Amino acid sequence: MTAALPTPASQPTARSEELLAAAQRVIPSGVNSPVRAFGSVGTPPRYIDSARGALLRDVDGNEYVDMICSWGPMLLGHGDERVLRAVADAAQRGLSFGASHAGEVELAELVCGRIGPVEKVRMVSSGTEATMSALRLARGFTGRDMVIKFAGCYHGHVDALLAEAGSGIATFGLPGSAGVPASVAEATLVLPYGDREAVRAAFAAHPDAIAAVITEAAPANMGVITPPEEDGIGFNRFLAEEAHAHGALLITDEVLTGFRASATGYYGVDGEGWTPDLMTFGKVIGGGMPVGAFGGRADVMDCLAPAGPVYQAGTLSGNPLATAAGLATLRAADAEVYARISRSSHAVADGVSAALSEAGVAHTVNRAGTLFSIFFSDAPVTDYAAAKAQNTAAYAAFFRAMLEGGVYLPPSAFEAWFVSAAHDDAIVDRVLAAAPAAARAAATA
Ligand SMILES: *Cc1c(COP(=O)(O)O)cnc(C)c1O
Repeated sequence: MTAALPTPASQPTARSEELLAAAQRVIPSGVNSPVRAFGSVGTPPRYIDSARGALLRDVDGNEYVDMICSWGPMLLGHGDERVLRAVADAAQRGLSFGASHAGEVELAELVCGRIGPVEKVRMVSSGTEATMSALRLARGFTGRDMVIKFAGCYHGHVDALLAEAGSGIATFGLPGSAGVPASVAEATLVLPYGDREAVRAAFAAHPDAIAAVITEAAPANMGVITPPEEDGIGFNRFLAEEAHAHGALLITDEVLTGFRASATGYYGVDGEGWTPDLMTFGKVIGGGMPVGAFGGRADVMDCLAPAGPVYQAGTLSGNPLATAAGLATLRAADAEVYARISRSSHAVADGVSAALSEAGVAHTVNRAGTLFSIFFSDAPVTDYAAAKAQNTAAYAAFFRAMLEGGVYLPPSAFEAWFVSAAHDDAIVDRVLAAAPAAARAAATA
């Protein structure tokens, strides 16, 4: 794992490499989350010193346009004064109480008020905790054990949901994870995304056994995939109808899409005429601090302890600082913010696509609301098999050249690209200025 990587000619990386070497002695692979290791892009990971607006600065003094935005949370950009002030004010009153406080109520009211299907919501500290808790709740509510998930969908590192997951599992080409008991994996049915026949067949094969179907509201951890329509019925609505016809619940995972794909998440993009039973949130809802949440039908949520039999708890759940950051972020995220994000995401996608076409690089742009990603493949990408068929070597070459050009893309071909309200026209121009050289590098990879 410590093999020397080629050092980019034009960019100092000495301090980052020193930190990486030190990290590798005391942190597995030197990282606290796998994708940060830059394992599939062939250049040393950059250690970040600070971030402002749409820019990241690394410890060697290089500046980059940030196209990951902490994988989604930094909707307003880095260092937004309203968010920093809210966090500083909260810190003055106490870092953590282990008791209830007003901020939790305000955040819950905001979520329930904005997201129709969420009648009640509980806060946790990560997206993983949100999906894990939602799954336990669905099992407790239905008295069933099995769960349907889709290949390429990532729901955090929950034992039951790691099989053929996206994100780091996709980046590193893993089938799933060691350490997941066979008995747990057996209760998870993994189906191809978008395959309605497979869903019908699974319910037919396991009558009265399936507690829930869980899906990303729009998959964005194998790259972005638009939920397909058939005869005017969207895939999420199909899943809701199928689950309900068989006494199961539908959990839509909006940890990534929530408050980002639109003000009301991906549900706001395609939520006509159907309702998920439970939804999960993370990322934007914490504005850069550790927050997750799960919520939905009141009768289901009321099965949680202490009133109900399904246990769920957290020492730092509803943490005052995290709650303040989330509230300030969501309150500041007005129509103008989403319009800016939509404009910038289109401008980057269109401009980069044009540069790739000019250089003759096969690629496909997929979108879901304001989210997008670029697959290095010219076939339509509608599921995990198609996502995996892309040219990851071409992406790695593109990534390295963009980084040298001052643009920090996701260090994986299987991730969405993120913009923030701080990605204005000048920032978009910086991204597009780096694209032609990177496209030529990808063409020769
Ligand atoms: C990021 C993500 C998670 C996991 O959230 P963490 O905060 O990393 O635990 C779960 N589901 C989806 C869809 C995600 O994108």
